[in-house]
Amino acid sequence: MTAGMVIIGGGECGARAAFALRENGYAGPVTLIGAEKHLPYERPPLSKDAMISPEHPLARTIAGEDRFAEQDIRFVAGTTAIGIDQEAKDVIFAGGKRLAYDRLLLVTGAVPRPLPLAAASRHCTCLRSYDDALVIRAHLQPGARIVIVGGGFIGLELAASARQRGAVVTVLETQARILMRGVPEEIAGVIAARHRQEGVLIRCGVAIAAITDRETSVTMTLADGEKLEADLAVIGIGAVPVTALAEAAGLETANGILVNAHLQTSDPDIFAAGDCCAFPLALYGGRQVRLEAWRNAQEQGTLAARNMLGLCEPHLAVPWFWSDQYELGLQVAGLADEGARTIRRDLGDGAFILFHLAADGRLVAASGIGPGSSVARDIRLAEMLIARSACPDQAHLAAPDIKLKSLLAA
Ligand code: NAP
Repeated sequence: MTAGMVIIGGGECGARAAFALRENGYAGPVTLIGAEKHLPYERPPLSKDAMISPEHPLARTIAGEDRFAEQDIRFVAGTTAIGIDQEAKDVIFAGGKRLAYDRLLLVTGAVPRPLPLAAASRHCTCLRSYDDALVIRAHLQPGARIVIVGGGFIGLELAASARQRGAVVTVLETQARILMRGVPEEIAGVIAARHRQEGVLIRCGVAIAAITDRETSVTMTLADGEKLEADLAVIGIGAVPVTALAEAAGLETANGILVNAHLQTSDPDIFAAGDCCAFPLALYGGRQVRLEAWRNAQEQGTLAARNMLGLCEPHLAVPWFWSDQYELGLQVAGLADEGARTIRRDLGDGAFILFHLAADGRLVAASGIGPGSSVARDIRLAEMLIARSACPDQAHLAAPDIKLKSLLAA
């Protein structure tokens, strides 16, 4: 009898992989193991809709129990694997219980980067899970003082939500500006201005020297001695990949579980995907990256499933992520830091796209911002140009009356 496919990690990537195994005709046993007690659910709404919806937010599950049953996928909730016996091809659980696998997928995700100064505070928290979101949401009352440490995606999406609930919000960022990683300065400037217009105080270039709990609040002391009082502080200073299981098994790791273009680890029967893995991006000369993005989790979940079935397909997708803050929609396709020069295209209504070109003229990324989904269509077309390693005419990129679709045809 076949041991089957085992997936460790019950998030977006793991759930997608489990269903993709069935979609690709796999008929053997499929087990999906999740550490949380909930069915796999979507994380993007946690910093947005779950914070501002008037009614109590429910976890937006990726599939219901009935769908798991119908697809004969065994979902084991609230369970953490503690080891892998590669010789026996067993996953080991607390108490010594074992589960055999033919192929194993590690989709262990990432966890919030801890801020040691905040470790002992009862009034400091992070946002990663649905349960975290409920705790933060309960604090978002009119007039509540919320300090957010970190001007990245979590911090800024949460700042927008907290303002919409009437809280008084301060964002503390160590870097000289917000969204330093992966978002061009021109776009970060639009986002910062929109937050300031809403009354969010963004403080860049600051360091926290001490965090002191009071009865119902917390005092953050900055390096220059200034003190800030908050009813709640949310720490959003990045995420670290969960690699302990892989490391204990002797799999190669370096800022994530190292995989090849087929998402295979240094053990050919063990795959890794999503936030926890570092993989080579063929489009950028095999540059090793780790992507913490929703669409990447979906795409890699599907690809890992296909390769667990022996299809041997390489990862070729263009990185893409989005963020919604107030009415603004930000989208980035490709890796903006690969660009040597930037061309701007204005789309009207304050929306614009920056095209990032390599020194040889190749389009390597496009970043856009504007109301709602105003930049979505052009970013989608830019993504197709990036995937083709196209070298579009720069004057055409800048001219809004020249359709990007026509550049694709060229
Ligand atoms: P992030 O986007 O990496 O931003 C963290 C920011 O905090 C960085 O600018 C970082 O600067 C700064 N920082 C680091 N240490 C600090 C300190 N001690 N004090 C103040 N600032 C500090 O990470 P995140 O916002 O925490 O998000 C966590 C995860 O959720 C990521 O995986 C993210 O991709 C995901 N997420 C994504 C979205 C989206 O795609 N829309 C939305 C929400 C969450 P350095 O660069 O110097 O470290």
